[in-house]
Formats: sequence, C-alpha cells, structure tokens
Amino acid sequence: MSETLANLSSESRQFPPPEELAAAANVKAGAYEEAAADRLAFWATQADRLTWAKKWDQVLDWSNPPFAKWFVGGELNIAYNCVDRHVEAGRGDKVAIHWEGEPGDTRTITYAELLKLVSQAANTLTELGIAAGDRVAIYMPMIPEAAVAMLACARIGATHSVVFGGFSVDALSTRIKDADAKLVITADGGYRRGKPSALKPTVDEAVAKSPSIENVLVVRRTGQDVEWTDKDKWWHETVEQASPEHQAQPFDAEHPLFILYTSGTTGKPKGILHTTGGYLTQVSYTHNAVFDLKPETDVYWCTADIGWVTGHSYIVYGPLSNGATQVMYEGTPDTPGRDRFWQIVDKYKVSILYTAPTLIRTMMKWGDDIPAGYDLSSLRVLGSVGEPINPEAWMWYRENIGRNRTPIVDTWWQTETGGVMISPLPGVTATKPGSAMTPLPGITADVVDDQAESVPNGGGGFLVLRDPWPSMLRTIWGDDKRFLDTYWSRFGAGAGSGDEWIYFAGDGAKKDEDGALWLLGRVDDVMLVSGHNISTTEVESALVSHPSVAEAAVVGATDPTTGQAIVAFVIPRGSVDTEGDAGDQLNVELRNHVSKTLGPIAKPRQIMLVPELPKTRSGKIMRRLLKDVAENRSLGDVTTLQDSAVMELISKGMQTGKSED
Ligand code: ATP
Ligand code: MG
Repeated sequence: MSETLANLSSESRQFPPPEELAAAANVKAGAYEEAAADRLAFWATQADRLTWAKKWDQVLDWSNPPFAKWFVGGELNIAYNCVDRHVEAGRGDKVAIHWEGEPGDTRTITYAELLKLVSQAANTLTELGIAAGDRVAIYMPMIPEAAVAMLACARIGATHSVVFGGFSVDALSTRIKDADAKLVITADGGYRRGKPSALKPTVDEAVAKSPSIENVLVVRRTGQDVEWTDKDKWWHETVEQASPEHQAQPFDAEHPLFILYTSGTTGKPKGILHTTGGYLTQVSYTHNAVFDLKPETDVYWCTADIGWVTGHSYIVYGPLSNGATQVMYEGTPDTPGRDRFWQIVDKYKVSILYTAPTLIRTMMKWGDDIPAGYDLSSLRVLGSVGEPINPEAWMWYRENIGRNRTPIVDTWWQTETGGVMISPLPGVTATKPGSAMTPLPGITADVVDDQAESVPNGGGGFLVLRDPWPSMLRTIWGDDKRFLDTYWSRFGAGAGSGDEWIYFAGDGAKKDEDGALWLLGRVDDVMLVSGHNISTTEVESALVSHPSVAEAAVVGATDPTTGQAIVAFVIPRGSVDTEGDAGDQLNVELRNHVSKTLGPIAKPRQIMLVPELPKTRSGKIMRRLLKDVAENRSLGDVTTLQDSAVMELISKGMQTGKSED
C-alpha cells in the first residue's frame, strides 16, 4: 500500500479573478517569481513596509534550527507602526474602527483617537508596574478597549496573552499560571445573545487562584454589578484619566510580542510564542496582498474574536499596520435577528469580509432569503479561514454573498504560523471552490509522503513547510521540548534524517492535477478503511454537496471487518423532514450519494442525523469527541467545547439510532 492519503474527489469549476480587480491589484503574478528568485530579499522588501527605529543587519538567522531569528539587530515599536505613524502622516482623522455593539450602540474611533487611548493605557500599565518583558492576560469582550489593551502592551514591550472571553475559570487560571502574568485586563461583561454576559466573576475566581496577579484593570461595558477587591482598578478611573502623551520606545525584532494558546481542537492547548519584527512584516504584507486592501477606500471586516489568532493578526496587527478602516462587532450573528451580518455589511458598506466556514454553513442552513434582502454590492473580496471550506459552502458564499462577482480567498494558516501561508491572490489566482490553491510568495509549502518525499500531482499526504517564514512561532512558551516534538520531529533533520528542518503542520492535504492544494483535515483524524487512508474532509464535503445537508462531521470507528468504518454525523438543512420513514430514507440516500460521489470505499457504515455538532469555542468541529461516541467510549477532554449539552444529545441518538443495513 503506497498511498499516503487517498484523493477521491475532483472539482472542475474554476473562477478567474475579475478583470478590474486584477488590473489594479496590490500584488500581481510577478511576486511569485520575485520571491522564488531570492526568498530572503523578498521578505526584506516586505519588511520595508514597516517603520524601523534601527535597520536589521541580517534577514534570517537559521543557524540554530528550529529556533529562527528574523531581521536580526533590527528595532521597532509595534504600536508606533500600527497607530502613531498614520497620525504623523496626516491621517489622524481617518476612521480606524467602526465599532458596532450588539445592542446597536456604536463608536467611531479615528487613528488620532486610537493614539490617545493607546498612549493613556500605556501610561497606566507603566504606573501599575508593568515593564517590558512582563506578561499581561487580556480577557475581554469584543470592544475597542480589547485592541487598545493589546496595543498598549506592545507599546511598552509587555507580552500579552489574550484568553477568549467565553473560557471558564479553569481555562483562564491555567493560562495565567502558565505565562506567570502580573496583570489581567477585563471588563464587567459584554453583550451576547441580547443580554449582558458577565466576565468579572470568572476573573475574580481565576485571580483568587493566581498569586502572580498584582492588579486587575476593569472596563465598564455593561454596567452590571461587580464584586470589588483591592486589586481591581476601573479603566475609566485610570486609563481615561492618564496623560495622552507617551513616547514609544523601540524593541528588538525578536522581542516577545504575545503568547496565544491554540484553540484546542485536537487536545491540550499549546502556548504559542510570537515575536515582533518578523510577525508584523508577514501579517502586514499578507493583509495587504491577500485582501488587496486599499486603505483609502476599503472598509474591512473580520468577524473573528480577538481571542483567536485571526483576531490578533487580521483585526489588530495586520489591518492597523496598514492604516485600514475596519468594522468591529461585539455580538453574535443571530442577535437580534439572523440578518445581523448583512445589515452590518450594508450599513458600513463593507468591501472586504473575512469569516469562517462554520458561519458560512450556518448561514446556508438559515436560508438564502436572509442575505437576499440586503444590498451587498459594496463587497469586493471575501475570505475564509479556520477549517476546510466544503466546495458547496464555497459556492453558496460566492453566489449568495459575493453575488457571483467577488473572488473568494480561502486562507490556510495556524496560530503557529502567525499569518496566512496558503491562499489565492484575488487579482492573480483562478480559484477552485474548496481549495486554498498555492503557497503565498515567500512561503514554501509542500505535501509529502511518510518519507518526506513530495507527492506528485494527484497525490495526498502530509502538509509541511520547508523553509522558515517571518511570522513563524518561535517556541511553545516554557516548553522547547514540546515545540520540537510537536512540529519538528516527524520529518527531516528533527527526525534524524538529513539536514533539512521540515515543519509538520498536523494537517493532511493533496495536490490536484494542476498542483493546487486542498486541505483534508487533521492527520490524526484520517480514517483507515480496508487499507485506504481516507480524509474526513472529502467525505464531509460529499455529504454537504447533497441538497438536504447543511453540515457534516465524519470519524473512523473501529470495525471488525474493515479496520475502521466511516461514521457520519449530519445536520440536515432547515426545511428537510427527518421524522420516521423520511429520516430512514434520507439516511440510505446519503450513504449512496457518498458512494456515488467518492466511490464505494468511502460509503459511511452509519449516518446519524443530529441537531448540532460539538464545536470548540472558535467554531471548529471536535471530531475526537464524536469518535469517542462512535466507539462507545467516555468523553475525553471537553474543556474547550462550546456547548456540553450537545454531546449528551448526540450520544443518546447514537444508542437508539438504527442506521445500518
Ligand atoms: P489545536 O492545535 O490546539 O488542536 P487548532 O489547530 O484548532 O487547535 P488553530 O491554530 O486556531 O487551532 O487552527 C489551525 C488549524 O485550523 C489548521 O491547522 C487547520 O487544521 C485548520 N485550518 C485553518 N484554516 C484552514 C483552511 N483555510 N483550510 C483548511 N483548514 C484550515
Ligand atoms: Mg493546531
């Protein structure tokens, strides 16, 4: 058996870039050749996008792999690059953030106002004893102060650790402890699903368990009652009273900028460490290139939460370093109604929208008529990130949101990579629905077999990165060994074979006949059915291509005859009847549909119709929990699960479900 990962699906639809966009694109096809001719010179050119207090002596030091140093000897201040320099260039009155609160309250913050807020916050942090190198935990709702807090830390060289505002006491306190943070910045609460949702009580409990915390800075957002301790300080009584004058000092290019824990889809989160110069270079470049950002005219909106890497790189550091005008939204997409996103696009004339497949599939489930009621003609580029996007969901996004006009950029990257790595360029690439297409200029991605040999076009295997990149993680905080073991010990020098250091991403992928890249889900999730390695993504996409299916998750469950058998969990579209015989019929139809689309080898043994799927708080499907259910095991770690009741519903259905023939 030579196959590393089967290539079962094929896609013939292709969409060239709109002519007008291509003609005026920020980045054209020549960038690939330029980067291929001299990769380090290419990144040095991109680093010139930033304002450096001291120029670097060396682009990359890779003498101690896998520990990279980029722009060695260079010095810069991140906050200066994201805020001050735009004001100094006369763009102080330009809107940085159109903030939309969930209840409908709004704030408009210009770059000049942002400078004032960040300077005041930097002065307050200093007064509270925070110095360069200290760690600060940020546990906030989606309010402008969250971005201000991050930038204030960066401005004084403190390392922030943003913890998603929906996480529990345990999740927060273990992250505080792991990073040994001295300060927490939080709020009384934020608005979610139409009501105030408290944050402060979680912080109080976490701080009680965290002796390293000296102070807690609290923004008043909801006005709800809060307990008060002598560590607590109100933001409006400190930051908003502080001097708006603050001189930003430059820091070394390798100064630690932030720690961020991964979303925990596959297991215990890892504290990913990012540094200063290389990180900002790549997020600034990719934000400009991938979204074709025209800062003077575009209105950009990324729907991620600041608690995830997407919020770090493509709400805070990328867009602000580029002087963008952006929308920031506090709440959920269904409050007060399921049209909230489209209402916001229409209201602010959003031209670039960056969201996640889980949201696109949810919108699909809610129905085409909802976006149809809005003028979405301002949109010109659409983006996707977080999971493989199924071809049908991609087409739905193109037709219903992009109205068949706008390119879609499916961007593959990870907390670990810091910035986008594989993506179409909207003015260059002829896209295929469901494919992230090709590595960006300056990035070397490949798909390899278990001997680290490149697979030919048409083959599948492991996604790897063969060369260091500027925004790469530098280590796992406090755990160099886990850093080596997780990413560098599978292939190449770190595995004791050859001199080449090869980064293993943990994802499966294939190259199609044209060499375009298709992400196939986690390698850990790959199913071994009768000697064939089958990816979860291909079977899920085949299910989603059936008109009755909104969303699907598949896992391989131990099977006495085939080794593993495919078990699928399927959410039907809103209008589909699943009662009694209709449900049984749909079940048979779906199994046959997969068999017809991908071949009999991929036919699920069993399909469960379910109302919901277990997801992380960032919206990703947690297949390992479904595998536990499919194999009748008790559930593994559920701390990053969004809604624990979902698992009960699914396990119950599993015990009563009759779906085998
Ligand atoms: P953990 O590493 O703790 O399990 P996680 O991998 O979910 O958590 P993130 O760093 O937020 O945490 O997610 C990165 C992963 O998301 C990628 O490795 C990949 O599996 C998936 N992903 C992101 N973007 C895409 C995309 N465009 N196409 C396919 N998969 C994607
Ligand atoms: Mg991961």
